[in-house]
Amino acid sequence: MRGLNSVLGLFITIGGALLLGGFTILLLGGDQRYGGPVFFGWDRVYYGGGLISIGSVVVYISLRKLKRTGVNVNNIMMCPRCGEAYNTDGMLDCKCPVCHVVLEDIKGFYKRHPEYK
Ligand SMILES: [Zn+2]
Repeated sequence: MRGLNSVLGLFITIGGALLLGGFTILLLGGDQRYGGPVFFGWDRVYYGGGLISIGSVVVYISLRKLKRTGVNVNNIMMCPRCGEAYNTDGMLDCKCPVCHVVLEDIKGFYKRHPEYK
């Protein structure tokens, strides 16, 4: 999980850089440090807008992926009686709130209880 998140963080950084570059081109025509405007007229809109849209897509996808992997799968446990999955985050005891039986690790659960497959 940690490794994936750092890759996503890198993608968000790249997306942010693309967005920044896009806005620089759109508003200033290029980075002033490299001898002033490089792009003029509609070129600014095309290149700037292009970079901004690519940057937005990269950031958007990365954030969505990040959100999905944000759920800690290790906290998901299964009820052997009703077959429901519960997130034990914030639970005082690892018991099913409906059946009041001790929840089981999701790992290998379907092997032990093939009837819930
Ligand atoms: Zn249950």
